[in-house]
Amino acid sequence: MVCTACRLSETRTNVVFGVGDPDARLMLVGEAPGKNEDLQGEPFVGAAGQLLDELLAGIGVARSEAYIANVIKCRPPGNRDPRPDEIESCKGYLREQIRMIHPAVVVTLGNFATKLLLGTETGITRLRGRRFDWWLGATLIPTFHPAAALRGRPEVREQMREDFDLARAVLDEPQPDEDFEVPVQPPLEFHG
Ligand code: URA
Repeated sequence: MVCTACRLSETRTNVVFGVGDPDARLMLVGEAPGKNEDLQGEPFVGAAGQLLDELLAGIGVARSEAYIANVIKCRPPGNRDPRPDEIESCKGYLREQIRMIHPAVVVTLGNFATKLLLGTETGITRLRGRRFDWWLGATLIPTFHPAAALRGRPEVREQMREDFDLARAVLDEPQPDEDFEVPVQPPLEFHG
């Protein structure tokens, strides 16, 4: 992918598009690639990624069974926050990823993903711990960014575990079968 839609194309090493099972029922959306992700072209390969793998393992999901992407696909220099125009230029890629993977559950990691996908200005601290009926029949579950758990208070990690448990519970709910067609009688014929 050779995207030049925003200024981040001038400083990135690799586009970090996303990784995982294209048929995943669980999708995780982070913020933006960091240094290691930029070098390797894969999301969440650094310390935050290790915590993410642990949280996934805690609910019986291997990284390869989920799909992992970010709000923006190229590293902001010095890991600064993504700018509104960068998010705007990039959001079509995420929209198409979600449409194609069509997950049952989307877990948003941190404020950037949560605000973009829920279209809200409310902060993650108030939104986490809840589930939202979202787009394309998916359930959206906001949680903290793993980097916040690494540098924050120990409760943050515990709250992330609770949010992943909630994702597990939703994954285990019976899903509506989209291929199921209601059997109908052939039209009755009326004579005379
Ligand atoms: N933080 C993110 O939000 N995404 C990554 O891919 C790595 C760190």
